[in-house]
Amino acid sequence: MRTVRKQKIHRTCRSLLSKYGYEKPPVDVKKIAKDEGIKVGSAPLPERLAGFIHRRVDESTVIVVKEGLGAYDQRWVIAHELGHYFLHGGEYHITPNKFLKRQTENSFSGLNLEEVEANQFADELLMPENMIHDLVMARENIEVGRLANIFDVNQERMAIRLGALGYLL
Ligand SMILES: [Zn+2]
Repeated sequence: MRTVRKQKIHRTCRSLLSKYGYEKPPVDVKKIAKDEGIKVGSAPLPERLAGFIHRRVDESTVIVVKEGLGAYDQRWVIAHELGHYFLHGGEYHITPNKFLKRQTENSFSGLNLEEVEANQFADELLMPENMIHDLVMARENIEVGRLANIFDVNQERMAIRLGALGYLL
């Protein structure tokens, strides 16, 4: 059985960030999508969906984000769909609405591999480890709220990311 390709996710995020010259947060994932030739829009979607990506044959790829989502959630949905775009084949991929309410790093461990990979990709693209490292090393205390502001993500997600990287014990 295949396992989550952590190195590939890491390398793909690093090369995207370097391609577009991101050395500091925040990472503008919407701009990255557009620069990759992907159209990004919003539309009313069913309750269970937060967004999807559609690779259209002979047309451009689109990422659709659920209308009315907050700015943090929009950014994370786009990052999740970019994960599918760069890591997985297939015409359609989705972001289930429940992904937005993730409480811990392992709370979706039962998911299929592609969804786990897209979630990890989203976290790595929005909160790159080297950027976190630089900011944490510049201070004595780890202030989750301050870091969340700098990375333009919500505090819960920032805390989960810091925990997964071993910065919060
Ligand atoms: Zn997905």
